[in-house]
Amino acid sequence: APAIHYRGRFAPSPTGPLHLGSLVAALGSWLMARHAGGEWWIRIEDLDPPREVPGAADAQVRTLSGFGLVSDAPIVRQSDRHALYEAALARLLDAGLAFACHCSRTDLAETGGIHRACRPGRHRDTPAIRLRVPDDARVGFEDAIQGRFEQDVAREVGDVVLRRADGYWAYQLAVVVDDADQGITDVVRGADLLDSTPRQILLQRALGLPTPRYAHLPLVLDEAGHKLSKSLAALPVDADDPMPALRLAWSALGQPAGALRGIDGIDRVLAHAVAEFEPGLIQRKPNAVAALHNCAA
Ligand code: GLU
Repeated sequence: APAIHYRGRFAPSPTGPLHLGSLVAALGSWLMARHAGGEWWIRIEDLDPPREVPGAADAQVRTLSGFGLVSDAPIVRQSDRHALYEAALARLLDAGLAFACHCSRTDLAETGGIHRACRPGRHRDTPAIRLRVPDDARVGFEDAIQGRFEQDVAREVGDVVLRRADGYWAYQLAVVVDDADQGITDVVRGADLLDSTPRQILLQRALGLPTPRYAHLPLVLDEAGHKLSKSLAALPVDADDPMPALRLAWSALGQPAGALRGIDGIDRVLAHAVAEFEPGLIQRKPNAVAALHNCAA
């Protein structure tokens, strides 16, 4: 098969209804993909049952289609893909790149939760499995929006959890395995995940997988400066009346409000948005939701 030149994705966790912050990530990743003449896939990241809300995944997909955002491929759910994560973990364990860790949260309290070496004599029944991060693991990459980003993964993160002690897969392992398995070339997502990217790159290297290009979109913050998804202001977006939220998301992506005026019908608006979209206008700094309301008005 010919190599795909651009395949992006939107990968929501089904922890609740889609809000403005997630719509910005969905629309931003979709516009970047369409601007490049590429594909856009939806993947449901449902690996953390305690945090999930029944029915939320279907509701998110329905909401996205109300905004005209439809996956170019059948939607996969991470909960159907345990065998893939299991195989990746086995490869890392066999290669000596991962290890079982019996340390508890209390054991790691004095290092601020950062794991570098196991406390001797610990034997919990079910250990966590961690990626062994070498001392010199400084990882940098060029982000298309945020610019150069570097992290000393050993000192700032420590040995990365791949499978939690409660048996659940860690997001970091699943996202790396899935992005590679699905042939994702471009990861476009919220800037809250910028500091996860170096450990994902380390994991790609450990597994011999390619590193996609990255673009981290500006977050939307409430009046108090909190990430929108964490605050009361994270009202669900209304798929029955998509234009108001779509305009806010378009403004959050730094695009001029006037470009979408006077057009009706979500499909025509999106077609117009693709034609007008300029990735270079996306700002790296976060947006306050009140300012977005002003500029989209
Ligand atoms: N599932 C993650 C979230 O909803 C996003 C993962 C990603 O885009 O890499 O925060």
